[in-house]
Amino acid sequence: MSNNLIEMDKRHFIHPTSSIQQQQKNGAKVIMEEGDGIYLKDITGKWYLDAVSSLWNVNIGHGREELAKAAAEQMKKMAFSSAFSTFSHEPAIRLAEKIASLTPEGLNAVFFTSGGSESNDSAVKLVRHYWKIQNRSERRKIISLKRGYHGVAAASTSVTGIPEFWGMAGHMMTDFIHVDTHYNSTTDQAIASLRQAIEESGPETVAAFFAEPIQGAGGVLIPPDDYFPRIRALCDDYGILFVADEVITGFGRTGKMFGIENWDVIPDVMTFAKGVTSGYFPLGGVVVSETIHNVFKEKSLGTLFHGFTYSGHPTGAAVALKNIEIMEQGQLVENSRLMGNRLLLGLKKVKESLEIVGDVRFVGLLGAVELVEEPVSNKRFAQDQHVTLKAIEALHERGVICRGVTYDNTDIICIAPPLIINQEQVDQLVEGVYEAILKVQ
Ligand code: PLP
Repeated sequence: MSNNLIEMDKRHFIHPTSSIQQQQKNGAKVIMEEGDGIYLKDITGKWYLDAVSSLWNVNIGHGREELAKAAAEQMKKMAFSSAFSTFSHEPAIRLAEKIASLTPEGLNAVFFTSGGSESNDSAVKLVRHYWKIQNRSERRKIISLKRGYHGVAAASTSVTGIPEFWGMAGHMMTDFIHVDTHYNSTTDQAIASLRQAIEESGPETVAAFFAEPIQGAGGVLIPPDDYFPRIRALCDDYGILFVADEVITGFGRTGKMFGIENWDVIPDVMTFAKGVTSGYFPLGGVVVSETIHNVFKEKSLGTLFHGFTYSGHPTGAAVALKNIEIMEQGQLVENSRLMGNRLLLGLKKVKESLEIVGDVRFVGLLGAVELVEEPVSNKRFAQDQHVTLKAIEALHERGVICRGVTYDNTDIICIAPPLIINQEQVDQLVEGVYEAILKVQ
């Protein structure tokens, strides 16, 4: 059975973000078939602690009957109806209202998509539209951070600041600029890099600055506390819109409903996906401020030629509403904060007893452990030592799934378990990480 599946996988399934040659050579390493809470089981019967919530998205954990029921009820009632033009339906209306009630003050109007990449592509087009209808078409440039990840559609690939993602098919669009991130730099340096890019581009040509509140796929890079307040002020000085990509950080991941709330900053636009449905249905969106919405209402004449068939899918909306209800009833945002603190403390102890552990950082349940050759000088391992790969494999053997990041000669183990994790499970995770790193050091 398993060999058969592996053969079929090789022959017919092109995996996303993966090495096609490795797949052909080695076959799929693990084929999952079942999930329960924070755990996943593969077809050999082995259970794993899903310590990155699959793709940072299964916030309420696996196997929730309530979501299956919400989806089934909505599918039976009305599987689909368009939201184009003057059509609408109750699940999407209720979800838009619910999200508006959760987002920071002033962010009140939602455009729905099927995921994060579509959300960021939509945000690029919406902010350019915002300027265009005010006769400011020259404001088209999008600035974002190096090591930022915003997706793989045309515009979101261009917003992404990890060059590996541009290589596959060349740059998709023009007028995208990447500036230094706050990682391994001071706020002054990071802000100076943005200011310089704005000045060199011509401030009147910049539409928006995009950033994840915490850079996830780039290696869980947490900004200094003064970074986002200063970004907000700089954007205001130049009249540039600030777009917060909350695709990972949204819906409780960082111990707040949205990541940017950790720094009391209100963006003009937010994009979201992943945790809004905990991965039970592909859904995402863009939330815009009242100011932007008012400009749209006043000046966006005729049809807005932007919309996906599944913008506001009724089943997706019903699943999202139930997911958010479960998060609220189970106080999962608070749990994320509390369990994140416990995880951080536990992993700091791991750092004390293992030589190759460098920085350990968490905000809520979004965190990372860096592996370095010398923690005091922060000297990194040579990439050909493949330390991250070995650590991820050692974790895998112990039944813990984490995500490794090695861009720019870093060795980072990303950790982001489902928000339902409890104390015992946190301790189990800490132990797994300790044992795996002990094996590779
Ligand atoms: N933005 C961020 C911050 C992400 O982490 C991701 C995916 O990991 C995306 C956007 C793209 O989302 P999707 O894969 O749903 O298109």
